[in-house]
Amino acid sequence: MSQSLPILDPAHGPSFFGFSRPRLADHLRDRGLPGYRADQLYTWVYQKHERDTGQMTDLPRALRTQLGESLDMRLPVSAKVLSSPDGNTHKFVLELADGKRVESVSMRTPRRLTFCISSQVGCALKCAFCATGLMGLMRNLRAEEIVAQVVAMGEFHGWRDDRFNIVYMGMGEPLANLAAVSESIRILNDERGLHLGARRLTVSTSGLVPQIRELAQLDMQVGLALSLHATTDALRDELVPVNKRWPIAEVLDAVREYGRTVNRRVTLEYTLLGGVNDGIDDADRLAEIARTLPSKVNLIPYNPVPGLPWKRPSPEAVDAFAQRLYPHAPAVTVRDTKGGEIWAACGQLGGLSASA
Ligand code: SAH
Ligand code: SF4
Repeated sequence: MSQSLPILDPAHGPSFFGFSRPRLADHLRDRGLPGYRADQLYTWVYQKHERDTGQMTDLPRALRTQLGESLDMRLPVSAKVLSSPDGNTHKFVLELADGKRVESVSMRTPRRLTFCISSQVGCALKCAFCATGLMGLMRNLRAEEIVAQVVAMGEFHGWRDDRFNIVYMGMGEPLANLAAVSESIRILNDERGLHLGARRLTVSTSGLVPQIRELAQLDMQVGLALSLHATTDALRDELVPVNKRWPIAEVLDAVREYGRTVNRRVTLEYTLLGGVNDGIDDADRLAEIARTLPSKVNLIPYNPVPGLPWKRPSPEAVDAFAQRLYPHAPAVTVRDTKGGEIWAACGQLGGLSASA
């Protein structure tokens, strides 16, 4: 099934969706308006889900017009939506004002709705098994383009679920675009806005050590997931090339310190590649690593990317790997491969449809 939301004109003027509330108050004050109007706007847009300033009935009429002129209230993206056959996974192919495309995914399980969002168009880091990495980096997303992914998915789902989680695990390396990503976190987190608690937000990184430390200093309490994928530097150098700059021991130190600073367990993500990193020795070394920091391990069976040589291990091999970890690693989950049918699973974003 494919469904299109209306195409919007390229944005003009500053987008409402890029402003944290304090910055919005400054923006309004610069235009001679009282800063508290920012609170009202946040409530209207993010809590009452009304984007038309003309409908904001507790604002003076002249102000409604003035606001409409000094802020662009339209979403800076237009979305084409693909649904999985069971209707639980939706892929959003989002066109940006400059015609470039990114993708977001919503996944429903009995317990919750999760939105997986992108932070860059493409990615420079070229992990060996990732479709986005094959594109190279086209550009960073702006804060409003990150927030707009959440709003577009929320609108599509009719804002029926007020409990949803956000994972920065779509296209791109969030910590390579930390300024816009941290601003988007402030916006999503705001108590007058969507008020998504930091516990519902997770940033995934391939291991940029200085930015992990910087994120810890920002003290936003968001969850951190490290894309580990290998337990020796020799193999990780090949699979996650950024390892050559910050090897396993260094990145684990940074992640350990992050967990301590925000007082949360970190997630170790481990994509299982058949015959490459799924052996018993790998499981034992991974358990050893997991024991050295408060963590949970998330195993992701490889999602095939056309043109790449890797193989997904059999379900039995995945199970054997997980069984070997269980007694030693504090918490292990195997990620369901959601959305394989619509090309929406991890690492499959961008390979086919986003090469704008
Ligand atoms: N750039 C960030 C976040 C996006 S990728 C990062 O690398 O962490 C989200 C997760 O999917 C990462 O752990 C990534 O390594 C993994 N991944 C990438 N390609 C994959 C594939 N083809 N199959 C399974 N997992 C993949
Ligand atoms: Fe970039 Fe993450 Fe893909 Fe690596 S796995 S190329 S860091 S998006």
